[in-house]
Amino acid sequence: MKRYRDLSSWLKEKYGSKVYKVSLTAATTCPNLDGTLAKGGCSFCNDAAYSPLALAKNRRGQSIATQLKEGIAYVKKRHRTPKFISYFQSFTSTYGDKKILLEKFKESLDHPDVVGLALSTRPDCIDEAWIESLLKFGKNKICWIELGLQSANDAVLAKINRWHTRRQFSEAMKILSRYPIPVCAHAVLGLPGETRKDVLETARYLATQPIHGIKIHNLHVVKGTTLANEYQRGEYTPLDLETFVDWGVDFLEQTPPHLLVHRLNAHAPRDLTLAPDWSVNKLGVFNAVENELEKRDSWQGKALGFSN
Ligand code: SF4
Repeated sequence: MKRYRDLSSWLKEKYGSKVYKVSLTAATTCPNLDGTLAKGGCSFCNDAAYSPLALAKNRRGQSIATQLKEGIAYVKKRHRTPKFISYFQSFTSTYGDKKILLEKFKESLDHPDVVGLALSTRPDCIDEAWIESLLKFGKNKICWIELGLQSANDAVLAKINRWHTRRQFSEAMKILSRYPIPVCAHAVLGLPGETRKDVLETARYLATQPIHGIKIHNLHVVKGTTLANEYQRGEYTPLDLETFVDWGVDFLEQTPPHLLVHRLNAHAPRDLTLAPDWSVNKLGVFNAVENELEKRDSWQGKALGFSN
């Protein structure tokens, strides 16, 4: 029995085969790093953690065509699949020269094996002009916006140096909801100072937003970050697996069943991960969430009164 609406099954049904994301960079930066808002970035942020180490070097100087070629070859070594999504996950992918960015997005969508793209961004970097352009050339393909909220508690957002608020997320959603563009909201569980109550509040808040999907995952401590320093000074303790799974399933129970679940765990390359150890075992985390759902005989939206 399927207990949540996962993105990969949805894509398989839609395209008749597995679809994998290929991580690309549009060589952007972020207002939280370039001094516009701040210079330190979110306390957990290390861009190197977002793509396979084998591909990470010199990617910012590479054309989209080269990144796609190498990224597709990398995925094909592990999975037999003919279809891909261009995933602009690096930094804030809608921040920068719009003309240049749109050309890069278009170039990635023009690739015959690419069925869509996903753009990872912040609530304060949403602009109506580029959404309109994106929709024009992305007409026959999926164009997801992955919008980072992380937590609905402003005190937690301040603690991780996020430099945006829950209200800004709501304002961005108001703009995006005027367009036929699917939005996946991104939340992280186990942020510094975050409690189970905060996590439930984030889930309940997102259930009220006009989103189409969610990406929720554990916080892991990556080398070279402010969070790594806090962890080494004993000021931050990551969640243990049991607590993460417990909170993750609580979150799913508060999530309306029509929302696609894009992700339930996150990991960085082992060489970059300081803690927790369990986060590098992607399959282990996935199985633990599935087992907890089964143990509780629960499913996405159960706490909202939906049956499975
Ligand atoms: S908004 Fe994203 S890219 Fe910018 S500092 Fe935070 S995590 Fe890093």
